[in-house]
Amino acid sequence: MTFDLRSLLRPNVRDLKPYRCARDDYDTGILLDANENSFGAPMKTEVPELNRYPDPHQSELRSLIADFRGVQSENVFVGVGSDEAIDLLMRVIGTPGTDKLMTTPPTYGMYKVCANINDLQVVSAPLTPTFELRVDEMLAAVTPEVKLIFVCSPGNPTAVCCKRENIIKLLKAYTTGLVVVDEAYIDFAKDQKSCCDLLADYPNLVVLQTLSKSFGLAGIRLGMLFGSEEIVSTLNKVKAPYNVNKLTSKVAIEGMKNIDQMKAHVRATLEQRDVVTAALQQMETVRKIHPTDANFLLVQIDHSLEVYKRMADRGVVIRYRGDQTHCDDCVRITIGTADENEKMLSLLREIAAELS
Ligand SMILES: *Cc1c(COP(=O)(O)O)cnc(C)c1O
Repeated sequence: MTFDLRSLLRPNVRDLKPYRCARDDYDTGILLDANENSFGAPMKTEVPELNRYPDPHQSELRSLIADFRGVQSENVFVGVGSDEAIDLLMRVIGTPGTDKLMTTPPTYGMYKVCANINDLQVVSAPLTPTFELRVDEMLAAVTPEVKLIFVCSPGNPTAVCCKRENIIKLLKAYTTGLVVVDEAYIDFAKDQKSCCDLLADYPNLVVLQTLSKSFGLAGIRLGMLFGSEEIVSTLNKVKAPYNVNKLTSKVAIEGMKNIDQMKAHVRATLEQRDVVTAALQQMETVRKIHPTDANFLLVQIDHSLEVYKRMADRGVVIRYRGDQTHCDDCVRITIGTADENEKMLSLLREIAAELS
């Protein structure tokens, strides 16, 4: 397949000479090269050498992530949440004021916010009412200015995966830009595996994942991007040299070494998801529970906006999504612990009774 990343890059990025930081050259010995503070940090608790800059290449973390997903370290970029990777992609690929990207509503809100920040226009190609990609309509809407297509699978707020065959069809037909598959929720999907195994065949594919959901580490801000060596090295040239800090990488490494525990948490979430689904099915005001491959449910319910507000006023916060394409009267409910879910359900029943 013919795919030329260079031609997609912003001209200033194409020939960028990256900043060289002190740790790029030497990182052992008596380090008096980076104007750090050898006396340490003003901390009472024991902290790991926080007076020293972190590894700009995050070698250990990237290698663990690569092993976990079955790719090479050279195919892994790590950033401050997937949000950093989304922004960086737009900064290297699109030329502000000229280029465009495509999203498939209903979808994750950050794509549009980032597009606005980077002055890239957004072309929408809505999903079907059952949240599948309309590949033919998407391809028909592609113009030479469309340099990125964002596909969220499993989707947020749709909760379901797009069919793998549709993603492949898109990868085969759209070679004038990058297909970005956001897999933030992939570890919760039972029947569909990550698209990482397609990277070898499709240089126009980029996969986004995060430690924020299945790994339960939203607080450390660690996102990863999988792509060709060329894409990863381009992003590494543009990122801030020390984007991932030492505390984050220490915790992320521990998380990557405890995959069994992550999987146990995923199993517990899926069990609770069944419990919540069964309880919601008993409620008369619940009109539809969408299928889910994620750690949340998209639920169509009577008086959705009012339900959402009353619940939040009484201490249980869910998300109103009724203003999104194909999501009329829908709320999005994250699956919590058994205790949290019970409280959510009893409040939901109470409010449903008040409103009917
Ligand atoms: C939660 C979520 C993310 C995660 O973003 P981080 O910046 O890594 O926390 C990315 N994409 C989607 C669709 C999400 O729902």
